[in-house]
Amino acid sequence: MIVRETKLKHGTTEQYLALDEAIRTAQFIRNKAVGFWMDNQGTSKADLYSLCKDLAKKFPFAKKLNSAARQACAERAWAAISGFYARCKKGLGKKGFPKFKKHCRSVEYKVSGWKLSSDCKSITFTDGFNIGTLSIFCNNETQEDLHRLKINRVRVVRRADGYYAQFCFDADRKEEGEYTGNVVGLDLGLKFFTKDQNDNAVIYPQFLRKSEKRLKKAQKRLSKKFVKGAKPQSNNYHKARKRLGRVHLKIQRQRKDWAIKQARCVVHSNDVVVYEDLKIANMVKNHNLAKSIFDAGWYQYTQWLDYYGKIWDKAVVAVSPNYTSQDCSNCGQRVKKSLSTRTHACPSCKIEICRDTNAALNILHKGMNILGAEWNKHNSTSGQEGSAEQSGKHGERCTSTVDEQSKTASNSL
Ligand SMILES: [Zn+2]
Repeated sequence: MIVRETKLKHGTTEQYLALDEAIRTAQFIRNKAVGFWMDNQGTSKADLYSLCKDLAKKFPFAKKLNSAARQACAERAWAAISGFYARCKKGLGKKGFPKFKKHCRSVEYKVSGWKLSSDCKSITFTDGFNIGTLSIFCNNETQEDLHRLKINRVRVVRRADGYYAQFCFDADRKEEGEYTGNVVGLDLGLKFFTKDQNDNAVIYPQFLRKSEKRLKKAQKRLSKKFVKGAKPQSNNYHKARKRLGRVHLKIQRQRKDWAIKQARCVVHSNDVVVYEDLKIANMVKNHNLAKSIFDAGWYQYTQWLDYYGKIWDKAVVAVSPNYTSQDCSNCGQRVKKSLSTRTHACPSCKIEICRDTNAALNILHKGMNILGAEWNKHNSTSGQEGSAEQSGKHGERCTSTVDEQSKTASNSL
């Protein structure tokens, strides 16, 4: 699925208020569905669909929302519920019990309830909220896709600087990747954003630090305007609140942009990318580190690594971070060190390298082992399966790079 975002413009205040109403209604139905599941044991997805019908009969404002969009709300609720069940089954620490939402920002339409103009430059919403026609602003690429591809869903999202329409297309992005024969292991850190096995570091850019300072300022201004117990808060409070929202939005976009560019670059120039699967939720419990960790946006970065790996058909592997910084990448000896120790000095084989480089080497080794095991598994079953040819091709590339890597690794030490 491809998702393209466009801005909705040239609407009147009434039109935007109508969009808000549609979003509020979607939230109402989603919450009702979650509530229904809480009250009735053994609720199925079909039960939620029929609940949508009942709600439309009972509440006139719920009937205004397009019927397929009502179902999409129930699907959202079901996604929260089934995700919860799946996490329970896996027995992970955090189960994430479905919650009622208070500040929904979006409503999702399926193939009905809206209509594109023939030149794809405006969209008309045809359900009961009288939203009417809004202009679409987007780049040429998106415009082409709107003409060319089949649209599955339209999601209207409210952000601090206006309303957006996201179009979900029934197609996959698949591109021919360029294979370079390189492999890379990435250590994600605080001092450097990433460091690879060859000592190449990526530093978290200064411009993001600067805009984060602007965020702090806006937060301070808002808290000065806040009057405890006052209801409603003053106009100036709400002005400051909206301004803070826009600052957040800008930083969010800058970060995303940077993460995409970094990830794209790494996957473009390597065939195999191995990174640590950091349990960020666990790390954030350490409050000294928490702020920097959130800033660094590692999670977003790794998500984009996975994404580009998929579209270019390259191996992107996540490995567990256990002992990657402790073990010696040369001889395997476990060398205990605190976070502030910056070099790895091994007492048994006497090498001395940067702590992050050592971790990157370990990460790379781990990833290669995983790929090697995977390749063996494929090969042992290749007798019966016709699809093994492709995996064999991949495996070859991986194993040859393993040899190369161990060579270069031993040379560099
Ligand atoms: Zn050693």
